Amino acid sequence: MQQGEKEPFSLNGIEKSKLEYIAEEKFKNRIICGICLCLVFDPLFCTSCSKFYCRNCLLNYSEKTFIERNLHCPLKCKVTNFREASVMEKDYLNCIQIKCPNFPCEECLNYCDFIAHFK
Ligand SMILES: [Zn+2]
Ligand SMILES: [Zn+2]
Ligand SMILES: [Zn+2]
Repeated sequence: MQQGEKEPFSLNGIEKSKLEYIAEEKFKNRIICGICLCLVFDPLFCTSCSKFYCRNCLLNYSEKTFIERNLHCPLKCKVTNFREASVMEKDYLNCIQIKCPNFPCEECLNYCDFIAHFK
């Protein structure tokens, strides 16, 4: 790993497809990763297809199809330009409530606290 690079994001073996979460109806299809089709974590936004992808999903995807270390949009966008979530997007992501999947914990966690809960 190069210096200053973000640590890979890990959900510690949590199965994302099994996560139960509450999000505002109007945002529900915007917060789904275009690769794993689950709630997006550590999102990057492709400005060509206007979709979110988990950074990890993109890294895995790009590794398979790779050219150097560039990230590639799975929708084959000609211009792949990824940006971080904007302040507004972070706002609505942070409104998501996720139910802790670890039985018997019944905590409902904020999106931004979710990862820390498993450390
Ligand atoms: Zn994903
Ligand atoms: Zn794209
Ligand atoms: Zn818990």
